Formats: sequence, C-alpha cells, structure tokens
Amino acid sequence: MGKLFVISAPSGTGKTSLIQSALKDPRASSSKLGISCTTRDRRAEEIEGTSYFFISNDRFKEKILNDEFLEFAKVFGNYYGTPKDWVLATLEKKENVILELDTQGALQVKARFPEANTIFIIPPSYEDLQKRLEKRNQDTDEVINARLKEAKKEVSIGKSFDRILVNNDFDEALEDLKTFMFTNNDLSKNRKLHAEKSLDLLLD
Ligand code: 5GP
Repeated sequence: MGKLFVISAPSGTGKTSLIQSALKDPRASSSKLGISCTTRDRRAEEIEGTSYFFISNDRFKEKILNDEFLEFAKVFGNYYGTPKDWVLATLEKKENVILELDTQGALQVKARFPEANTIFIIPPSYEDLQKRLEKRNQDTDEVINARLKEAKKEVSIGKSFDRILVNNDFDEALEDLKTFMFTNNDLSKNRKLHAEKSLDLLLD
C-alpha cells in the first residue's frame, strides 16, 4: 500500500503552491494528487478533470447516496468530496496519495484511515494571512473577513494534526513539506520551534 497524506491549511496560507512545488521533486514520481468533486463554479484558470470535477448539487447528492466519497464537506457554501475508489486503487498500486482538504474532511479521512499522515500548514500570524489574502486581489473585504474567521476555526482543528509547519518563508516551508512527504525525519529544531511558536500565537 502507498502512503496517504492529507494536507490542510487556512485559505491563503499558500498550501496549493507548496504542494505543487513539492510534487515537482523527483521523489514525488510515485505520488498522485487527488482530484475532488465540487459543486462550486469553475474559476477561469481551472480545468475540468484536472483542478476538480465540477458537478451539480443533484449529482453530488447522488454520489453521497451511492457512497462514492471517502469524505465530503461543505466549505464556504459549496460541497467538496474525495472520490473513494480512486484513492483506494491508487494506494493499492503502491502509489502515495496526496489529498488537499479542509480540516473537516481531513478528520473524516483520519477516522477511516488512522495510518493517514495529516499535515497542517499555518501562516505566521493572522496579520500575515490578511495581507496575503488582500494581495491575491481575489476577494472583497467581506469575503476576506469571512476567510479570516474560518481560519481561526481551521487552526483550532488543525492544531491536533500529526505534523505542523509554518509558511513564513516559501522555500523553508517547502523543505519542511518535503521532509514530511519524502523522509521519516522530523523538522530541524529551529523550524519545529518556529512552527510551535506561530501556532501558540494563532491560538492566543
Ligand atoms: P477552493 O474552492 O479554494 O479550491 O477550496 C476551498 C477549500 O476546500 C480548500 O481548503 C480545499 O483544500 C478544500 N477542498 C478541496 N477539495 C476538497 C475535498 O474533496 N474535500 C474537502 N473536505 N475539502 C476540499
């Protein structure tokens, strides 16, 4: 069986870029990123079947009834779910599976697969997260505030994940993620301390 990694982070923390970069590492040749189903609208840059499978609410409900999801959750008003058969078949081929999920979904997967490795990526502070969300220029102030509120909920769940890393610096965070994905090592003392201190600050 391959290894299962479930990666979560508050919106705007840089999770997708970190995962995409980690997957370019030669050690990722037998790692596959899961493609979820979602009921949210496709964004201009997204590709059907690569970014997500974009489906209707009715189709999503049908899939729930047919037990086709390993987990599903409602995030920011839309449904997201992980196709179960694909994950099981990929693991059976001895390939590693990376799932990029919200924390509710990650907990559902961990409950079904206790051997799954849950990784939580945190921003160095909420001020930093707010700046990043503003810089993305994607959301109104109202949506940014909602994302920040949601981030606090995500942190209160994510604090209990198996591994935590802080994205204060892209390259350092990428090295941390690669350490978790491709080695059995722990983070360096400094990086671990940095993540612990940042988490304390976010929980304050
Ligand atoms: P976005 O709409 O920005 O692509 O994703 C919103 C959130 O939904 C992100 O936190 C993302 O990781 C999460 N997400 C994406 N796919 C799934 C899924 O299949 N299940 C769950 N639970 N969350 C997902």
